[in-house]
Amino acid sequence: MSKQKALDVLKTYWGYPGFRGLQENIIAHILSGHDTIGLLPTGGGKSICYQVPGLVLPGVTLVISPLVALMSDQQKGLEGRGIKSYHFKGSYTPRKLDEAFRNIRFGQYKFAFFAPERLNSELFQEYIKHADIGLIAIDEAHCISQWGFDFRPSYLNVHILRTLKPDVPVLALTASATPRVKKDLAEALLIANAKVFEDSIRRENLHLYIKFTPNKERQLFRLLKRLEGTGIIYAKTRRSCESLAELLQNNGHSADYYHAGLLPDVKEQRQEAWLSNELRMIVSTTAFGMGIDKSDVNWVVHWDVPDTLEGYYQEVGRGGRGGQEASAYLLFHQQDVARLQKGITDLPDPIKALEFYNKFCSRFQIAVGTGEDTAYPFSIVALANDFNMSVPVALSYIKLLQHRGYWQFQESSQIWPALEFTSKPLQWEKLQRQEGELLIQLLRIYPHAMHQPARIHLKKCAALAMLTPQQFERSLSYFEEKGLLKYLPETSGSSITLMDPRPHKRHLHFPKSFLDSWLQSKVERAQAMLSLLNSEECIFIELSKYFGQSTEVQPCGKCSSCLHDHYPDEHKVKQLLSEGNTIDDIWFDLNCSVDELRRFR
Ligand SMILES: [Zn+2]
Repeated sequence: MSKQKALDVLKTYWGYPGFRGLQENIIAHILSGHDTIGLLPTGGGKSICYQVPGLVLPGVTLVISPLVALMSDQQKGLEGRGIKSYHFKGSYTPRKLDEAFRNIRFGQYKFAFFAPERLNSELFQEYIKHADIGLIAIDEAHCISQWGFDFRPSYLNVHILRTLKPDVPVLALTASATPRVKKDLAEALLIANAKVFEDSIRRENLHLYIKFTPNKERQLFRLLKRLEGTGIIYAKTRRSCESLAELLQNNGHSADYYHAGLLPDVKEQRQEAWLSNELRMIVSTTAFGMGIDKSDVNWVVHWDVPDTLEGYYQEVGRGGRGGQEASAYLLFHQQDVARLQKGITDLPDPIKALEFYNKFCSRFQIAVGTGEDTAYPFSIVALANDFNMSVPVALSYIKLLQHRGYWQFQESSQIWPALEFTSKPLQWEKLQRQEGELLIQLLRIYPHAMHQPARIHLKKCAALAMLTPQQFERSLSYFEEKGLLKYLPETSGSSITLMDPRPHKRHLHFPKSFLDSWLQSKVERAQAMLSLLNSEECIFIELSKYFGQSTEVQPCGKCSSCLHDHYPDEHKVKQLLSEGNTIDDIWFDLNCSVDELRRFR
């Protein structure tokens, strides 16, 4: 009965004729009232696994997710289908909280999204306890494991939900996870008896190539001549995305870059251009692709080596979602190997990380016993400069402290200059003519700024007023002093939010067990990546081993390891050489042994 209901819901709201892959089994298991763990690869339709049963079951479905952007996307998706959902964002007074839960109860909301930190509030817990809840869905559930690559200490709180609502089924969702993470997940969520549904790592239509080349740039350009259709190129840093995109553009490729530092509307515009195939390739950090479902991605290139196998698998999985043949190339050279090895030996000094914490608090004048739940925006470059350290070192301290749960680091996008009028146009008549005119002009461009801060384009406004941007900013400050408006200047991207009040120096420490497991998991992940780069075994079998799946399977027969040709055809090599190809080119194309090739030199 409920099975039919689930299918009806899928047809009504999504218009799909049937479920895909594991969806049906996962949903049936939840609807029978049991705890469930679903491991689905990217693009495996994870969200349907909680959204469909959420609509079938009575009451509201709680959805816990680590990222605001991810929740916003899912909420938008639901709203687009005419399904009401609530997203807990920002701070709540007891009164506002009461109102929110009342709205959820009486407003026919079917889903309520929130970050795990919400559960720190006892009042919030109290409301959950008395709310009518049909399902608890935990997205990105691997964040709960210290062994995961993306551990969020705040996730350790999520088991509270089970205690508050012992009879409500729990669904934990994540992409492929190692056996240790799977075990952690069931234990930490108090769903030890949950049934695990897991898809095989193998993807028949995906051709994986891992290629060593001393000249990545040359091989990338040669590769792009061969590859057809749209693709993604993953690079590690923002700067390398920008420079690689520029290089591609200068060579006549339809390419652009994408990273967390872009303006929201630029992001959207580039995403759109790529989704509609107006843009052929996008060069991006891992920030790209979260929640994006594009079925016709034909190829993925890793310009840099990913830090983890989880990341690698997730990113190559963005290719061939429509079922078409797709290829993924990972290009690496000696420096990439050195960087990974350095990551194992160059670990941040925990004592210095704690000093960093205190320095940060002093800089932002956060006294002991205060500072929680406030976001402190800063520029990572300026901070590293001030503290006399390099940006990577500063980031390593920040991340270690985050891993311990002291704070949450957001590498968010830039906060743009904004303006809000705090006076009525009537009051402007008393001003000098020029000043009054400037304000009226601004109001004309930004009418919304009358009620709330509106983002402004500083250069454009300055040009309109025939001022330099600096002069224009000075006039805004002048108006602000007169109480006519509020001006929020541009601030740089990153921010840190303290999870708890700043502790006394005495209580600030890393327990040995914490450091040991953190260190070990970091080393293990880097080593797994290194051994994949050097392996001669089928890439899919290597991945199956890492994710704890059966390795008693046939090699895929399509990956660079399976296709490795030890003895290249002499005629072919001679022909390629005569056509002006270098040994490196031939090595790359024929996927053969370099020692053999040297014979032809
Ligand atoms: Zn293979």
